[in-house]
Amino acid sequence: MTITTPNSTTLKTELFIDGEWVPSSSGARFPVENPATNQVLTQVADGTAADARRAIEVAGSAQVEWRRTSPRDRADILRAAYELILSNTDELAALMTAEMGKPLNEARGEVAYAAEFFRWFSEEAARIDGDSTVTVDGVHRILVTKEPVGPCVLVTPWNFPLAMGTRKIGTAIAAGCTMVFKPAELTPLTSLALAAILQEAGLPDGVLNVVTTSRPAEVVGPWMASGIARKVSFTGSTEVGKILLRQAADNVMRCSLELGGNAPFIVLPDADLDRAVEGAMAAKMRNMGEACTAANRLFVHRDIAGEFSRRLAERMAALRVGDGAVDGTDVGPLIDQAGLDKVEHLVNDAVARGAKVLTGGDRLQRAGYFYAPTVLLDVPADAELNSAEIFGPVAPVLVFDTEDEVVQRANDTEWGLAGYVFTQDVDRAARFSAALEVGMVGVNTGVVSSPAAPFGGIKQSGLGREGGRVGIEEFLEYKYTAIPVIPASR
Ligand code: NAD
Repeated sequence: MTITTPNSTTLKTELFIDGEWVPSSSGARFPVENPATNQVLTQVADGTAADARRAIEVAGSAQVEWRRTSPRDRADILRAAYELILSNTDELAALMTAEMGKPLNEARGEVAYAAEFFRWFSEEAARIDGDSTVTVDGVHRILVTKEPVGPCVLVTPWNFPLAMGTRKIGTAIAAGCTMVFKPAELTPLTSLALAAILQEAGLPDGVLNVVTTSRPAEVVGPWMASGIARKVSFTGSTEVGKILLRQAADNVMRCSLELGGNAPFIVLPDADLDRAVEGAMAAKMRNMGEACTAANRLFVHRDIAGEFSRRLAERMAALRVGDGAVDGTDVGPLIDQAGLDKVEHLVNDAVARGAKVLTGGDRLQRAGYFYAPTVLLDVPADAELNSAEIFGPVAPVLVFDTEDEVVQRANDTEWGLAGYVFTQDVDRAARFSAALEVGMVGVNTGVVSSPAAPFGGIKQSGLGREGGRVGIEEFLEYKYTAIPVIPASR
C-alpha cells in the first residue's frame, strides 16, 4: 500500500465515516502546517457537528455486529494492521515529521512503538477472561463475563500522533468496541493514514469513524451529549480533560483520561553521574521536551549540582537543531507559535527571578518554531516553570539538600504522572518509588513507556491506565450471571 507523501494524492484527507472517505458537510477544509518551515502541507476536511452526529450514529449501529465478532477475528485485524504499519515505517515517519516536527529517527521510533500497541492488543484480544465462583450460601453459581463497554469517543493530542491513536484504537478493537475518533487539529494526517491502514487490514465499515476538525468542541460536544457513546478516552491537557469529565457526567460515561504532567527528576548524591546525565537527556529531550512524561523539574543534590549541570549543558549545547526531515537533526521545532511563546515566557520569567542560563535561553531566528536546548541553574522556587508544563527543550536545575525536602518539593504539584530517581542505593530507590505521588517511576532510567506497562497518572494527571494487562479492562464491562447450583427438579 502507498500511504503518502504530504502533497501526494494518495493520502486521503476527507472524513472517514462508515468505511467511506467523505467531505465535510460544510465542504470546508483547514490547513495543516509544517512547524519547521511554516509551509502549508495540505488541507483536510473540517468536520462539523452534523458530521459528528452522523459518525456517532454509525458507530452505534456498527456496535451491534462488532460485539459479536470473535476475539480471533479482532486479533487478526490488529495483527495485519501491525504488519502494515511496520512495512510503511518510512512513509509514516516522514508524514509525522512533516506535520509535527520531530526528527525522523524519533518518528521511526514512534512508528515502532505505536505498532507495538496493535501487536500487544492483538494478543490481549484472545485473552479476555472471566471468573466463576459460588455464592456464600452455596445456592448460586456466579459466572462473571466481560463485555465491550460500547461505542467510544477517542480524542488525541498532537505530540505523539501515531502512538496515541494506536494505544486507544488497539484497545477498543481488542475489546469489541466501535469508535468515533478526533485527532488533534495540528496533526491530523498521521491519523488519516492510520485509518487507511486499518481499512486495508480488514476493519469492518463503521467500527472506526474519524472526524477531523479545526473546532474540536463542535465535534466532540455532540458525541458526549449523544447518549450513544458509552465511554470517552482522552489524552491531552488537564484543562480539556476536565471539560470532558464534566460532559461525561451528564450521560454517566466511563472515562479514561491521560492528562498533563510535571515530572520531578531527582539526582541523589550517590548517583552514577554518567547515567543521570544520559537519563536526563532522554527524559527531557525526547520529542523536543513535548511529552507528558518529560522531566519538568530536575532536582539535583547540592554536592553534585554544579558538575551535573555542567555536563548536561555540554550535551545540550552539542545537539543539532533544525528541520527534523534533514538527516542528523537531533532537535526539531516546537509545534506552533503558542508553544514557542510559552517556552520563551517561562525561561524569561525564571531568568528575571535569578536563574542562570548555562546554555541556550533563546528562540532561533529562522522560519519555524525553534527554541535552543536550554539548561538553567539555580532556578528559584517561585519561578513559573516549577508549576507549569514547560513542553519544550528546557532543563531547569533546582538544588536540594535533604531527602525529606526533595520529596516534599517533588510532590508539591497538582499533577502526578511520572517521576525519575537516580541513585545507586537500592533501599533509597525503593523509598523514593514509594514516596513519589506519581503513576510511573523510572529508577536510573529516563524512559517510562511500554505497551506492556500500565501507563497513566494520579492526582490531576488522569484516570485509568493504558496498556499492560489492565489496559483492556478500561474498555470492558463486567456482567455477573447467577445460576442455581442445583437446578430445581422438574
Ligand atoms: P489539548 O488538551 O489542547 O488537546 C488535546 C485534544 O483535545 C486535541 O485533539 C484537541 O483538539 C482536543 N480539544 C481541545 N479542546 C477541546 C474541547 N473543548 N472539547 C473537546 N476536545 C477538545 O492538548 P494538546 O496541546 O494537544 O496536547 C498536549 C497535552 O497533552 C499536554 O498537557 C500533555 O501533557 C498531554 N499529554 C498527555 C499524555 C498522557 O498520556 N498523560 C500523553 C501525551 C500528551
